[in-house]
Amino acid sequence: MSESMLITCPHCHQRNRLPATRLADGGRCGQCKQALFNAQPVVLNAGNFEAHLQSDLPLVVDFWAPWCGPCRQFAPVFEQACAALEPQVRLAKVDTEAEPALAGRFAIRSIPTLILFRHGREQQRLSGALPAAAFQQWVREQLG
Ligand SMILES: [Zn+2]
Repeated sequence: MSESMLITCPHCHQRNRLPATRLADGGRCGQCKQALFNAQPVVLNAGNFEAHLQSDLPLVVDFWAPWCGPCRQFAPVFEQACAALEPQVRLAKVDTEAEPALAGRFAIRSIPTLILFRHGREQQRLSGALPAAAFQQWVREQLG
C-alpha cells in the first residue's frame, strides 16, 4: 500500500489522487490528460485558488502586480524555480491588481509577497524579491 496524494491540475484545476511514489514521474491529469507538472507557475484567481490551496502539495504563491518593478524582476527567478522545486512544491502567481479579493483575504500590504501554504493554511510569508538561490533555499527551509 502506498500513500496517495491530492494533486491539483495546473491546466483544468481538477484534483487528481495519485500514489506519492508516482509523483517523481510527473503523471497526467485524469480529466484533461495534460502533464501535472510543466515547470511553469500556475496563474491563480478567485475561481481556482481554493482547488490549489486544498491539495497535498505545498503551495508557494507570488502576490505581484504588473506596475511593480521588483515584481517584474523577480518573475523570471520564480519561473526558473519551478523546474528546481517541482514536483515537491507547486508555484503559483496571483496578480493583486486583477484579484483584489485574494490580496485582501491575505492582507497583502507590499509586493512582491511570497506565501507558503501547507494543507490549506499559511505557514510562512516573506516580502520582497530574492535572488534565485536565496529564494529556493527559503522554500526548502520551510519544507524542512
Ligand atoms: Zn487537468
